Amino acid sequence: MKYPVAKPYITDGDIERVTKVLKSGWLSLGPEYREFESKMSEYCESKYACAVSSGTAGLHLAVKVVGLKAGDEVITSPFSFISSSNCLLYEGVKPVFVDIDEETYNMDATKIEAAITSKTKAILVVHIFGQTADMESIMRIAKKHNLKVIEDACESLGSTYKGIMAGTFGDVGVYAFYPNKQMTTGEGGMIVTDDKEIYDLCSSLRNQGRNPDSEWLVHERIGYNYRMDEMSATLGVGQLDKIKWMIDRRVEIAEWYNGYLPEIAPKTGKYRNHTYFVYVVRVKNRDKVMEKLTSAGIQTKTYMPVIHLQPFMRKMFGYKEGDFPIAEKVSSETLALPFYIGLKREDIQNICSYL
Ligand SMILES: *Cc1c(COP(=O)(O)O)cnc(C)c1O
Repeated sequence: MKYPVAKPYITDGDIERVTKVLKSGWLSLGPEYREFESKMSEYCESKYACAVSSGTAGLHLAVKVVGLKAGDEVITSPFSFISSSNCLLYEGVKPVFVDIDEETYNMDATKIEAAITSKTKAILVVHIFGQTADMESIMRIAKKHNLKVIEDACESLGSTYKGIMAGTFGDVGVYAFYPNKQMTTGEGGMIVTDDKEIYDLCSSLRNQGRNPDSEWLVHERIGYNYRMDEMSATLGVGQLDKIKWMIDRRVEIAEWYNGYLPEIAPKTGKYRNHTYFVYVVRVKNRDKVMEKLTSAGIQTKTYMPVIHLQPFMRKMFGYKEGDFPIAEKVSSETLALPFYIGLKREDIQNICSYL
């Protein structure tokens, strides 16, 4: 492939950082994850940040620490990566989907209230593709119905709604650092919250249920090994040091695309800024377009299949085609194009000439 769909941006400085940690011999629970947490909480304007081994691990802990239990229902989006629903299913919590807004591809806030039942305990908001959901409406509904809010901000680091960072509206927010995200730690995630109790509980649960002052082999509760290692954490510090620059580059590339593809370019909702986790266009004859691009050495991906039609979700809940028509229609037409730092205007022009 001449143009892969995604590629991490790793500098010599990043490589030096990781090498230095490797040479130090201190590979876990050292100074680096603390530094990464403190820089992250500063960047996200959140009081506390808790580094974990993946975004999915972070979401799982988020579900636990807001107190969700088996049999509860949580309202969420069917147009997302699978882990935003799996984190609920791990705890026996039922994801209840509402359809999406056709402009931003985020959960349609006007459809939330109709989905609330006596079992509804929370809204799990997914900020899809790099822009936030309609957080003003969602927070208003959550308050009115006394619901917790978990934010899956794994695709939307750095994006804001009315100037407020994705991930910091609700009780707890989660970012992810898989290599295709806005920044990477290899594998990794970060939980952010303003609530000290939530932070303490997350810290304990990621570390086998130990309390901060516990002896190494004393466990206060059932926990997990969801720790982030020091190599990942130091890479995170290096990446975060240049996150503003990296997001600016992503926006620049996206704007080149937008200029060449005005008809099928993604749209940004009111009051928000887009940090472009992926660059996704909307095409009617997607298979044909993909074929043409592939034969020119241009990789594309169908972003994303809807969650409710995944084989195991159909079996568990009996979902079928037509249940969430807007998400299904969008999902059948969206296509991610090559998108990573290093692409030049000429590359974008070249790619667009096949569309
Ligand atoms: C990437 C992502 C996650 C977390 O993924 P991990 O691979 O576990 O880090 C969660 N939700 C969404 C919407 C994502 O895109």
